[in-house]
Amino acid sequence: MPRHAAALLLACCAALPPGVLAADTQRPEVGVAAAALQERVVAWRRDIHQHPELSNRETRTAAKVADHLRGLGLQPRTGIAHHGVTAVLRGGRPGPRLALRADMDALPVTEETGLPFASTATDTYRGQRTGVMHACGHDAHTAILMGVAEALVGMREQLAGEVLFVFQPAEEGAPEGEQGGARLMLEEGVFADFRPDAVFGLHVFSTLNADTIGVRAGPTMAASDRFGIRVIGRQTHGSRPWGGVDPIIAAAQIVNQSQAIVSRQMDISAQPVVLSFGAINGGIRYNIIPDAVELVGTIRTFDEDMRADVFRRLGAVAEHVAAANGATVEARIPAEEGNPVTFNNEALTARMRPSLEAAAGTGKVVDMPLVMGAEDFSLYAREVPGLFFFVGATPVGVDAATAPSNHSPKFDVDESALDLGLRAMLQATLDYLDGDAGS
Ligand SMILES: [Zn+2]
Ligand SMILES: [Zn+2]
Repeated sequence: MPRHAAALLLACCAALPPGVLAADTQRPEVGVAAAALQERVVAWRRDIHQHPELSNRETRTAAKVADHLRGLGLQPRTGIAHHGVTAVLRGGRPGPRLALRADMDALPVTEETGLPFASTATDTYRGQRTGVMHACGHDAHTAILMGVAEALVGMREQLAGEVLFVFQPAEEGAPEGEQGGARLMLEEGVFADFRPDAVFGLHVFSTLNADTIGVRAGPTMAASDRFGIRVIGRQTHGSRPWGGVDPIIAAAQIVNQSQAIVSRQMDISAQPVVLSFGAINGGIRYNIIPDAVELVGTIRTFDEDMRADVFRRLGAVAEHVAAANGATVEARIPAEEGNPVTFNNEALTARMRPSLEAAAGTGKVVDMPLVMGAEDFSLYAREVPGLFFFVGATPVGVDAATAPSNHSPKFDVDESALDLGLRAMLQATLDYLDGDAGS
């Protein structure tokens, strides 16, 4: 791996035509730092990968991060939002304030990668014993940000402004009955003492090759909202449906009719909308019409007004279709506070894109299509201008369209993505703090 980094550095500097703008080519100090750190970033990621922890259980990972930050001479704050770790680095020169965020949690997935450092960890999730795996690549994010922190500490005297490192637990969602993630980080004051001027984050992603960065301005990842609809009828014998109110018929019609919200009522030429039912539960026996049926599902949107509109329309469909059947509903739409749209500030994205290009190389930063998945980075980006970009996880030469996706038991991060992610984040940070990427 170090040879690879050195080769990249040489290739990059050798290709440097004289007189080009700093923002268009990788800063020499970025290449030097990345080459020096690469082996350790790989080792950190392998170690974190081998010891994954579920959301709100990230004790070992948090301790590793805090130890690393302390070793760099920083004074980390620990225990924020359960296992969150933050630290501030103050540069030697005045400048803006920037927050860099990585997430640390793993998923209840049993790993099938066959890697020598594959996870064999298990834990209990929703009452079931399960394997635990970094199937979303948060191990890579944590290792990259540890590397970025070390690189920036090494440049402290020349650094303009201040950087807040945010190592966040529970991005995938706190277990039932618990709070966690970005929402709790904000509630517990992650931006209270240090109000950043902007926040950056990245995600490794299977649909891109590991030499490629994906980014887009504006709405980037969907708002994700869970809903629950309880359709209430009146129990009766299956042979005498007229003796009660059948909630199964009403529920079936609600499922069908709500598909017309997306296909007939929302302006999907403006932004896409997805409405999916994930479970239907009701009844126990072939000849009993039950009292009630439970429906649960998810709504994905990219616009706050459309999001509110879908909530309202789904509620109306549930209520009126049920009423037409003589049934009633108890609707929770949304069932809880979901993640809003992950929105990349347009001016900030335009300003930082050359920094990503400088790290990835010409033609290696692509326009990211909308991602229907959600991110709680969105909550930080609702507070201050945000930039969230994607680093390819699939080895060059492998078809990224068919590679095992994030959350798959076969999901893997090509280790060259660690180098690209580190260089991109470092380059973007330095360019932002220096303000030489223009504004
Ligand atoms: Zn995930
Ligand atoms: Zn993730």
